[in-house]
Amino acid sequence: MSRALSYFVGVIKDREEKLQTINADLKLAHHNLERIAVTDRLTGLYNRTKLDEVFANELARAQRYDVPLAVVMADIDKFKLVNDTYGHQVGDSVLCEFSTIVRNLVRDTDTLGRWGGEEFLIICSHIDMNDAYILAERIRSTIVAHSFSVVGPKSCSLGVASYRPGDTVATIMSRVDAALYEAKQNGRNRVVLEREST
Ligand code: GH3
Ligand code: MG
Ligand code: MG
Repeated sequence: MSRALSYFVGVIKDREEKLQTINADLKLAHHNLERIAVTDRLTGLYNRTKLDEVFANELARAQRYDVPLAVVMADIDKFKLVNDTYGHQVGDSVLCEFSTIVRNLVRDTDTLGRWGGEEFLIICSHIDMNDAYILAERIRSTIVAHSFSVVGPKSCSLGVASYRPGDTVATIMSRVDAALYEAKQNGRNRVVLEREST
């Protein structure tokens, strides 16, 4: 090979390698951006955007294949008191500790995310009411037995609802909201199942 030709082959190889590196960097950046877009910044859990997406997909699956689907909504009891007593930063740390505990209690096939504020949603695919209740009760009992740093014991209330034919995301959410509301009304630190007739 002439010297000129081998020089150009070298230049092309060099450029190819550089392009490969840029491509790999772009892929990584894209992956990171995708992750950030679906992650709640404080807790590291999925955010509302991701929950909405998963909920719609799981509902479509439940409708098409007639598989069970349940949702659990958890809300920390008297959380405002934490902020008011110890400040917002301690409130944030309680949210993070709560998230870590619940993350360790859900299955890989469950989708756990921060719905907003101090409310967390778990979308339980292929899970019926009974198993969702067991999960919710396990979360309740684990949280109430835990001593949070700085603030000590806290409790949470949970609502549970499951897919019924004809449901939309909004109808399931309204039943789980109503169940959670009832749990608060009945004294907190409890799990309430959706009403049969609503
Ligand atoms: P309940 O038992 O009825 O649920 O009472 P609560 O005090 O937990 O509920 P409330 O809705 O009155 O208060 C929720 C509080 O959560 C109010 C809001 O300032 C606080 N909050 C929401 N998001 C965050 C956050 O990201 N960090 C902190 N530290 N506080 C937050
Ligand atoms: Mg709330
Ligand atoms: Mg609350």
